[in-house]
Amino acid sequence: MERISAQGGCLCGNVRYQIDAQPIDAGFCHCRLCQRATGAPVVAWVTLPVEGFRYLQGSPAVFQSSSHSQREHCAACGTALVFRKSVAPVTLDVTLCSLDEPTLVQPQYHIWLESRVDWLHLGDDLPQHAGAGPDQH
Ligand SMILES: [Zn+2]
Ligand SMILES: [Zn+2]
Repeated sequence: MERISAQGGCLCGNVRYQIDAQPIDAGFCHCRLCQRATGAPVVAWVTLPVEGFRYLQGSPAVFQSSSHSQREHCAACGTALVFRKSVAPVTLDVTLCSLDEPTLVQPQYHIWLESRVDWLHLGDDLPQHAGAGPDQH
């Protein structure tokens, strides 16, 4: 993927971040944790090397969403921003639609389709994975 330099942030504007990185990949996640964390049927994520991401303003609330991973969101407005391993992350995932320009990166695949809600119909021809697929969430 092409290198990007981009900013993003939460709905209320308290938390802002900067990306300067060559994204590793991007895709749609249909897992139950993403569904619960956002209330949405599917979440588009871009995966970056950790050093390519930094918070510019505000600090996110951190929720330990499993024994080995955490989710970072704005404590004021609740926007889901980041997913990463709790210990020694090498990569992290950023919610694509929290970018100021969400169309900067195009999702390439669907993962965790085993928990896709049956009223959500996919009209693209991207690769589909029942489980974790190429990105190990
Ligand atoms: Zn906010
Ligand atoms: Zn997920």
